[in-house]
Amino acid sequence: MFSNKKPKIIHAVDGVDFELKQGEVLGLVGESGCGKSTLARTLVGLENVTEGVIELNGSNIVQLQKTNRRHFHKQVQMVFQDPYGSLNPQHKIVDILIRPLIYQRAKLSKKSLHERAVSSLEEAGLKPADQYLDKYPHQLSGGQRQRVCIARAIILEPKLLVADEPISMLDVSIKWGIIQLLKSLVKERNLSMIYVTHDLASVGSVCDKLAIMYLGKIVEYGPVSQIVEKPQHPYTKALLASTPSADPNFKRQKADILGGIPNAMNIPSGCRFHPRCTNAIEKCKTQSPKVKKEGEHITHCHLAFDVNKNSAVAAEVEA
Ligand code: SF4
Repeated sequence: MFSNKKPKIIHAVDGVDFELKQGEVLGLVGESGCGKSTLARTLVGLENVTEGVIELNGSNIVQLQKTNRRHFHKQVQMVFQDPYGSLNPQHKIVDILIRPLIYQRAKLSKKSLHERAVSSLEEAGLKPADQYLDKYPHQLSGGQRQRVCIARAIILEPKLLVADEPISMLDVSIKWGIIQLLKSLVKERNLSMIYVTHDLASVGSVCDKLAIMYLGKIVEYGPVSQIVEKPQHPYTKALLASTPSADPNFKRQKADILGGIPNAMNIPSGCRFHPRCTNAIEKCKTQSPKVKKEGEHITHCHLAFDVNKNSAVAAEVEA
């Protein structure tokens, strides 16, 4: 049976705009299904960009993905969420590590390939490397496998690392070590990193900037301190309110959120967050909020920033 209906196009990520300087870490945060992993996969060329530009050091990497994939992969590497599924179980660790160098047609002797594998593995915290190189992935723990994934990602000395929920499948006792490793790599190699997570508790210690995503759009963006201390978007406030604090005396503002995340096939009109927003006013249902800015802090909400100045829920209601 065939249907004449045109297939509906879903923009899993739409109107996303951010900037990352060398050596900076951007946290990409949102619920499951908000588009953050799709954005991460797009950045490394695993999803197609239908519109827009992604630049790295002034070069259009969307173009680079099409014309010179080898050069692109040298600059941008990814650490995947699942350290079990992202390593070929039939290959030894040494073969997994040198594969990107072979793909790059690096003219290195066997000895040099081996040395590069050793140094990246040891930089990723698996020392002495000789204990691990001849093992297969199933002989390692989850944390060790994720370190192998990180070693594989850095072996080409990329400029940008995209880490897609790199600790979410690991035991609690191991997570901190992986976060510390990523932080030290960023510092020592002056790497830029996009750190994708649904867990706001981990971003403070890793990230310089945050981008909060909701239903394929970045709704709030800016320096971590400003977003955590003065969140403007009701969705960010709700995420922060649901994040546990290590300080038992810390009282976070209550922020309610209604219902569940809508179907991406049926994006709400106006502000796409309005069906779940307890602050929504009439125009939220029909008018998409424009960008509101205070310094580097950017929000897409009709009521952003004005609410804190006590000026303006009323003014917005009148408008
Ligand atoms: Fe809520 Fe309206 Fe702001 Fe959207 S624009 S987050 S619906 S107050």
